[in-house]
Amino acid sequence: ERSRCFNFSAGPAMLPDLVLDKIVGELGDYDGLGMSILEMGHRDAGGPVQEVLQEATDCVRHILGVPSNYAVIWQQGGAHGQFAAVPLNLLRDKTQADYVDTGVWSRRAMNEARKFCTVRVCAELREEGGRLEVPPVSEWNLSDESAYVHICGNDTISGVEFLEDLDLGDRLLVADFTSTLLSRPVNISRYAALYCSAGKNLGPAGVCLVVVRRDLLDFALPQTPMVLHWKAAAETSPIPSLANTPPVFSIFACGHVLKGLRRSFGDVGTLDNVKRRTQRRASAVYKIIDESNGFYINKVASAVRSQTTICFTFGRDATVQRQWTGSITDTVKPTDLEEGFMREAKQRRMNGLAGHPAFGGIRICLYNGLPDEAVDEVLRLLRDFAVAES
Ligand code: PMP
Repeated sequence: ERSRCFNFSAGPAMLPDLVLDKIVGELGDYDGLGMSILEMGHRDAGGPVQEVLQEATDCVRHILGVPSNYAVIWQQGGAHGQFAAVPLNLLRDKTQADYVDTGVWSRRAMNEARKFCTVRVCAELREEGGRLEVPPVSEWNLSDESAYVHICGNDTISGVEFLEDLDLGDRLLVADFTSTLLSRPVNISRYAALYCSAGKNLGPAGVCLVVVRRDLLDFALPQTPMVLHWKAAAETSPIPSLANTPPVFSIFACGHVLKGLRRSFGDVGTLDNVKRRTQRRASAVYKIIDESNGFYINKVASAVRSQTTICFTFGRDATVQRQWTGSITDTVKPTDLEEGFMREAKQRRMNGLAGHPAFGGIRICLYNGLPDEAVDEVLRLLRDFAVAES
């Protein structure tokens, strides 16, 4: 029997076995120096901590193909820190920003932004003929008075994803890529800035990656806290992201995840290869849902169906209302079918399948660290459970 559980949770997500082994193997004694990287100072110019930081940053640049006119920085405070950092760094002389509402994470971003500016909801998730859709950009109510347009690249709770990089022309597009970065290639130049809190594809929680166009670094509001100040992070010497003590463990581990991705998916076209696997795995899950004669229900329109966080409910629970865009602090009671599904999953050593506590349902997250074997196992569970309950 396999020793590890398969973890389908929305985050923290599984790390590949080999990556975990490398982290553990290197942690006690870094490079034969008789010290752990966790005990070393970040001010040692060219020393191990700076080396780890530089290597992880270079890996991000390589894998994502980040153009040279973009800065890559690591900050603390997670995505929630960036929910505040975005308006603080980008409002400039403006007092409002446009936000697209595709679920809870969009709303969390708006709640922070409202502390600094007027938030306009320029588009929102809508239900059309029983399908959840995002209106096309041509229908967004964008304002020339807004400093930027914010989207959530993949709403981890509603399972709604922007599968393509949008073209907003000269408007500054900012995206929360927390639950989708590294699942497909990204055309960075379409974005003014994007951020990704670790805990899913990137590595263990504790750090947030920010990629921002360098010409936008000059506009931070004077009251911007130093730890959220993009320019302060981009311009530290001798390398970026040394404004204060960096979260060394998290960056060290993210570096291993990134190197692991290059090993497994190749150095050239890494994310094209990852995308193929992501799509293959997601479509196998959606196929079972769609062919279950309404036993499993996912209402997201195919154009915006998340490839990594797949949410569904049971047709027989139709009377139970699910508010995908409600409040994150609500809690709903799982239905008998949901409990039964999770009980069966647990017996098969799969966990993390419960939907977000506020919304219920079931959620299957297919992050990069999840082995194919785990996907096969969950597909089997989906098939078996539908047969057993029918
Ligand atoms: N945005 C998205 C899309 C997320 O999935 C999450 C975490 N689940 C967050 C933001 C919040 O990240 P953090 O807890 O690191 O602030």
